[in-house]
Amino acid sequence: MSKKTVKDIEVKGKRVLVRADFNVPQDQYGGITDDRRIREALPTIKYLLANGASVVLASHLGRPNGERNEKFTLRPVAARLSGLLGVQVPLLPDCVGPEVKAHVTAMKPGDVALLENVRFHKEEEANDAAFAKELASNADIFVMDAFGTAHRAHASTEGVARCIPAVAGLLVEKELRVMGDALSDPKRPFVAVLGGAKVKDKIAVVENLLGKVDTLIIGGGMAYTFLKSEGYPTGGSLLDPERLDYCRGIISQAKARGVKLLLPIDHLVATSLDGKGTSKVVNAEGIPQDMIGVDIGPQTGKAFAEEIRKAMTVLWNGPMGVFEVPEFSKGTLAIANALVESSAVTIVGGGDSAAAIEKLGLADKVTHVSTGGGASLEFLEGKVLPGIDALQDL
Ligand code: AMP
Repeated sequence: MSKKTVKDIEVKGKRVLVRADFNVPQDQYGGITDDRRIREALPTIKYLLANGASVVLASHLGRPNGERNEKFTLRPVAARLSGLLGVQVPLLPDCVGPEVKAHVTAMKPGDVALLENVRFHKEEEANDAAFAKELASNADIFVMDAFGTAHRAHASTEGVARCIPAVAGLLVEKELRVMGDALSDPKRPFVAVLGGAKVKDKIAVVENLLGKVDTLIIGGGMAYTFLKSEGYPTGGSLLDPERLDYCRGIISQAKARGVKLLLPIDHLVATSLDGKGTSKVVNAEGIPQDMIGVDIGPQTGKAFAEEIRKAMTVLWNGPMGVFEVPEFSKGTLAIANALVESSAVTIVGGGDSAAAIEKLGLADKVTHVSTGGGASLEFLEGKVLPGIDALQDL
């Protein structure tokens, strides 16, 4: 990575502001239902504390739209973090202001504190320069470790990095190294598996990957527009009629570049998306007019898994079907299992596929599960992430 990390600078005796991504999913009572994002932030926090820094943590949670709202307090995060770190992490009453200043000024090396939700201030998402300066005034160094928010130029991600020396945390370093290596210098064969609902959301990813992969596998809802463009019947399946020509173009570009493009050869079709109707497996020519493709079929699962088995690098983004309904999750599970069984570099590119592999308890069995949804997609599109761009170069 061409950006400095916490390991490239002296942190001893320094007060370090760490932007983490503690935007964890919660139940209706505020209970944290998945603490992966908190756990992923621990290496950086522990490294800084062990090396004589004091650590001031900042994050957003949810969408309070610039107003203080108890529903979005980081209090549950402070409690979980205290448990995971084994030290009491106080939650400060705000992220800026005199009380915060008084607390952080009194902090000693080895101390840690969590600022309250930065999005309680509208200046955060507006990337207000004065607000960024105020955040920065409580630290000597800024560490960006919120990969999931790195695609947003906000005050606590990009703005603050312009005020004080700014480097990457260990999570951001890992995200950029693993995904960056896969994109720039993959071990081949390099297979990308794309799924999810909409062609439109993945266009830029498809275009960027087409120039890099040996095999492109397309499943999930987005596959039906590709199949329709080839003349297959798709019944009531998801379809983006405006992008039929685009899909046709991708198929011929793949041919021209020698990229193997795989589409589903059979499907699980159902009368409704919620799993309450009837369902059956049909081949590619057989989707009935009144049924919806809800998952890849078993033959497709096998064919995709076979391709993954041959790969040395696998990148997966997007489920193969409506995996939230257990009956429609077999295809997604087949891909997850193929990744787990593979000895290749296996990367799950955030969002729903990360949630799926997490739900299956298989996240520890792949090389890397990205913590970013939108950020991973933009990275895979080849875009510059503003929260990373603002960090010091090596
Ligand atoms: P994305 O956020 O684009 O990765 O899309 C994820 C969503 O795509 C999930 O909520 C899936 O339920 C949905 N999805 C995947 N396959 C299908 C399909 N065949 N029909 C409808 N929705 C689908």
